[in-house]
This record gives sequence, structure tokens and C-alpha cells, in this order.
Amino acid sequence: MSLQFSPAINRVHAEALHRNTGEPEFHQALLEVLESIVPVLDRHPEFIEAGILDRLVEPERQIMFRVPWHDDSGTVRVNRGFRVQFNSALGPYKGGLRFHPSVNLGIVKFLGFEQIFKNALTGQGIGGAKGGSDFDPHGKSDAEVMRFSQSFMSELYRHLGEHTDVPAGDIGVGAREIGFLFGQYRRLTNRHESGMFTGKGIQWGGAEVRTEATGYGTVFFAQEMLAVRDDGLDGKTAAVSGSGNVAIYAIEKLQQLGAIPITASDSGGYIVDAAGIDLSLLKQIKEVERGRISDYAERRHDARYISGGSVWDVPVELAFPCATQNELNLNDALSLLKNGLTLVAEGANMPCTPDAVEAFQNADVLFAPGKAANAGGVATSALEMSQNASRQRWDFLSSEDKLREIMHGVHASAYEAAELYGHPGDYVVGANAAGFKRVADAMLAQGVI
Ligand code: GLU
Repeated sequence: MSLQFSPAINRVHAEALHRNTGEPEFHQALLEVLESIVPVLDRHPEFIEAGILDRLVEPERQIMFRVPWHDDSGTVRVNRGFRVQFNSALGPYKGGLRFHPSVNLGIVKFLGFEQIFKNALTGQGIGGAKGGSDFDPHGKSDAEVMRFSQSFMSELYRHLGEHTDVPAGDIGVGAREIGFLFGQYRRLTNRHESGMFTGKGIQWGGAEVRTEATGYGTVFFAQEMLAVRDDGLDGKTAAVSGSGNVAIYAIEKLQQLGAIPITASDSGGYIVDAAGIDLSLLKQIKEVERGRISDYAERRHDARYISGGSVWDVPVELAFPCATQNELNLNDALSLLKNGLTLVAEGANMPCTPDAVEAFQNADVLFAPGKAANAGGVATSALEMSQNASRQRWDFLSSEDKLREIMHGVHASAYEAAELYGHPGDYVVGANAAGFKRVADAMLAQGVI
């Protein structure tokens, strides 16, 4: 598998596979990055000589802990907590927490690894980390989520801090969970340390546009890619998967910019609303009622609900996978291509399998990897940190302008790096190469640590 590399890269790859057995998602992310950075390493032998690659693939610190809590019946339950502090060469560790039954060390490691390059691409001075737990907030009462979150933070707090490690939300960690986690940190440390968590409520240190930022940013990135081809979003149909924060605000921005998003999904199935998604109904169901996507079709009779199946069977010009890793496989890619697809922008982290990505690229479809397309979320987290540090609050419109500017910069960095390293138009190579170069330069300057 690793034969295409030089002996030095081969060795690093083989050692990493050996050290991280049983972690297929991490292996997948690792291979993608290694393949992309070959041309950077060819030009910069000093990175290999300084062992940058050996150090980069090994997290600086991995924390794994027991999270005991009482459910509403008084029974003791135990989950596992994680925080992988992957790389802090560019700034304090930064990355979300995910609460989902699928979470394990390999998943957290893949997400943390991706986060390094994504955060570097934003140019905001933040390192890469990820954390979470196999706890499932779905079907739990608010009191159970609170007790779990307090127990989780009772262990993790000693590893966090505004200059050390700054978590945020991810799947299963939204405003409610962030409130409980922040509250427990404040209680344990006796510090109202706003900058130690991002995604906070607006009244207690949160930033405008943070909620919308990942979805909006993904659409801004798509707009930038289309602009290179003298094209735009107006009038184009779009499939969006997921119905969480990323999907909802991708749909909102697509609509504002004249596109027609017609789908949304959850783990049970998906909806198709050919007239365009009714955003206020979707928000009511998902944000207020915490309901299922099937509820949407029950209340809106023009919409169809398909239980199971794949949202990618719906004919559209634009695809925005905004649910979770490896949700779009080769069959899905072929079906989208058959139906006239022209662009894919990943709102989720690594939602397309490697063979699906290859199929898109071979078909000359514009393809934006998550670490570039969805970087607006974490970039706006960095804006929240800036506001916390200076005790300022920026309004919605100026914050959105900053996000748009940042996404313009992320696109330019990826696009230009792809050209520079001999793969014009390949945003996977561009994003990985540009992100890697920034981190590698910082690591080189800071010595062997
Ligand atoms: N979880 C988000 C991501 O995947 C945001 C992380 C953050 O804001 O720190 O980038």
C-alpha cells in the first residue's frame, strides 16, 4: 500500500500503521495527507532531515479517561472520554468535542490529525486537537446530559485553558452541552475564562456567526471554486446531507445566494422537497423540538421521506455532504455523476471515501475537501477567542464579512499551493500541502520537541 512513497516516507507510514492498529479512519486520513505532501517534501528535504514527518504523525498527547455518571433511574453508567492534543506548533490546541456512540480513539485521532491542517489553513494561529466520548445525547434528558457533561469536564479541565487547549462543539455537542461543560470548568477552576471554550452562548462570551460559520463557510468556499470557472450558485439545485448545525446553515446560505437545496437527512432516512427546503420548519424540528427528519415530511405534504436509502440518489448539480465521515461512497459518487453533478464541497470531516473522491476528480468535478471547505467553523472559533481576549463583541454583519474574507484566503491558499506543487485544480493536494507547509515551517523553527 505504501510502495508509491520514497523510503523515508514509507518508513514513517509503516511505523504509524503499526503503532495505530485497528484505526482505519486514522489510516485513511494519514494516507491522504502523505500522498498530498510528497511534492512539498521533494522540495524541502530539510523537513525529512528534521524528522518533521515522524513527529507530525504522533500526537503530542493522548488523554483517555473514565466518565461515570448517574442516569435518571439512579443507575451508574460509564462512558469513555478522549482528548487527542495532536499539534501545537501554530498555537494552542484547538478542535471540537464529539459525543456519539461511534467515537473511539481512532476516530478522535483522525479528526485531530485533519484539524492540524485545517487550522493551519485558516491562518489564525491555532494548533490541532479533537476529543469526545462514546456517550449518546439522543434520548437522554437534559439532567442526564448535564451530569454526564459535568463528569466529563471534571477530568478534562486540568488539560484545558485559553492558552493551552480550547475545545468547541462537534457532532452531539451543541449549545446545551457547551453550556454544561463551560459551567463545570468555571466551577472547578473558579475562573470565568471565556477563551477556554468556543461556541459559547452569545450572552456569556460567545461570538456572532459561530453557529452559522461551518455551513456558511462551506457555501462560500463553493462560491469561490465556481468563480474560478466564471460560474455561480444561482439557480443550481443542491443535495445536502445531515440536519445538524452544518447542514442547516449550509442550506440557509445556499438559499440566500440563490441556489435550491432540496434534501436533508438523519440516521433514519432523508427528505426530498423539490420546491426547496422550508428552512423555518427544518429549524423548528431540529433546533427547537430535537425531532427526526421524518417529522418534516409529515408536516409538509409536497416533501417525500425515504427511509434508509441514500440522499445521493437525488439528481442535483451540487453536493454538500454535511453529516459524518465516509457517508458518501463510490456508488453514491457514480450515481451523482450520472445525474449531472458539477461540484462537491465537504461540510463534514472526511465524508467522501477515497474512491469516491477519485471518481469526482477523474470526472473533472470541482471537489473541496472538508479541511478546506469547512474551515470556517474553527476560523470563527478563533475570532471568538480574539473577541474574548480583547473583551470586544463584533456584530453579525462584520463577523460574517470576516468569515467570507477568511474563506477567500483558505481557497486562495489551497488553489495556489495546488498550482505551485504541480497539481492545478486539485484542492486535496492544495489544502494538505499548504496546511502542512505552515505547520512544518513552525516545527522546524521551534526545534526537536
Ligand atoms: N468541530 C469543528 C471542526 O470540525 C469546529 C472546531 C472548533 O471550532 O474548534 O472543525
